[in-house]
Amino acid sequence: MMVGKLSLAKQTLAKPWLSARLSVGGLLGAGAEALAPWCQPVCACLRLAPWRQRRSRIWLVAAPERLRRSSWLVCFRPFPCCRAAVTSYPGAAKIQSQGGTLGLLLLPLVPLLVLLSACGTRVVKAPFPVQTLADAGLQPLPAARLAACATALRLPPELARPADPSNFGQRQARDAFGRDVPNRPQLIVLHETVISAADTVRYFATPHPRDDDQASYHQLIDRAGQRLRIVPDLGRAFGAGMAAFGDFTVRIRPASVGSLNNVALHLSLETPPDGRGDGDAHSGYTSEQYRVAAGQVLLWQAAWGIPMSRVTTHQAVDRSHSRRDPRSFRWDSFDTAWREAASRCGLTALDRGRATI
Ligand SMILES: [Zn+2]
Repeated sequence: MMVGKLSLAKQTLAKPWLSARLSVGGLLGAGAEALAPWCQPVCACLRLAPWRQRRSRIWLVAAPERLRRSSWLVCFRPFPCCRAAVTSYPGAAKIQSQGGTLGLLLLPLVPLLVLLSACGTRVVKAPFPVQTLADAGLQPLPAARLAACATALRLPPELARPADPSNFGQRQARDAFGRDVPNRPQLIVLHETVISAADTVRYFATPHPRDDDQASYHQLIDRAGQRLRIVPDLGRAFGAGMAAFGDFTVRIRPASVGSLNNVALHLSLETPPDGRGDGDAHSGYTSEQYRVAAGQVLLWQAAWGIPMSRVTTHQAVDRSHSRRDPRSFRWDSFDTAWREAASRCGLTALDRGRATI
């Protein structure tokens, strides 16, 4: 984390008004083909003939097959996706001739149908495929064995230091196109705090209404090796916006740059006092931090079936070209501590010694 220039982008739910519009559209019946998913219910009513008042840009539309010709609707800004269907309807000429009079009578319906008209500005075809990681082939450890492992590792108890709700979210099950996206923990991303642990906890506990200020980890390990719990594992901590693991990333919204927050568990190490600035290196982390970090990583791997090849750093997955943490992190020190922990728990198979699965 670089608190001075946070841009740990989060990706939010589809807009609430979208589902509201879907409900309204559903009343009209579905059936239009080859249209954007949320446009289909609305456009079903556009098997119709339009009449357009050029000045007001109001379209009068009816659904002869479904709603009878007398059931006219008025829509602002007709949807581009529906125009072909509208103009090709064989009864168009006849209904156009009636439109002038009916249009005036039906103008009071305009406020209701404004809800529908917004659909036309939101027609978006999915511009990217949903990406997934290969099945790691690791079964999560049963709870009883996980508890036994935690005891064997002699890790300090977690201390609750919860983030303000504005600084984390929920792992998203679907993207803006209604497609299932990966949303279970599959990656572990290591960070450093840059500032002190106390200041970091204070920052996360502070409400941040602006997206660019929102940030969090799941857990933070201070210089003494204490485990500070910031966000539950099942929550979506905002630790690695604009990030990818190889080519893999998760996009929720059409304009998303891609993030790993939907599948990441974020673990941060408190930076030593000589690492507060933006220097290239500092004096590193304590042996207790390595021991506890290795134990925590092992527990997460066992709990979620994550291979060592998916334990990485913020620097390695960052695509914003602005993150270099954790600086001065020694993988050899971590690996020594990890092997000791894995041996205690009998979980050495979580490191297959491969670059990838
Ligand atoms: Zn970071």
